[in-house]
Amino acid sequence: MGLTHIRYNHYNYISFVHLICPRCFKRAKAILITQTNDLYTPLIFSEFQYLELKNWKIACESCPFVKNIPFPKEFDKRAPGALPYSAPYSTLGSFFYKVEYLDFWAYNSDHLEAIIKYLENCLEQNNPYAFVISSYLRGDWKRNKKKLLTLIRKKFITNSKTFF
Ligand SMILES: [Zn+2]
Repeated sequence: MGLTHIRYNHYNYISFVHLICPRCFKRAKAILITQTNDLYTPLIFSEFQYLELKNWKIACESCPFVKNIPFPKEFDKRAPGALPYSAPYSTLGSFFYKVEYLDFWAYNSDHLEAIIKYLENCLEQNNPYAFVISSYLRGDWKRNKKKLLTLIRKKFITNSKTFF
């Protein structure tokens, strides 16, 4: 698929992350801020956009906790090879959507919902997470999807519409 595909693999990352608030342990949201203090929103980004990122801004949804974390400087370089998927997130803290089984985690509620749909064989082709999930979702999560889905629902889904 050429360069576009390679860039997608190496530079794609998620524009917001749900974390556990370090103060109240409820859900916090981390978003990306650019050098011009704009909200970063594209899911896929180019090397140029990568250099434009300034910091993560974390804000709790339930308490006054806020924190800015500079985007890791070592990732500002044009990486010659693949960046680890975890790299831009490694300084953020604990992801909110985690299950104590097969180290399951999701970046945010949208990602979690997409993974659930994928495991249920009903993820839409145009879902923004479809490529990443169909290409990289862990094999042990797929092989144990019945138990995994049960645990995810038990922890995060109290009715058909929310993830709490
Ligand atoms: Zn909080």
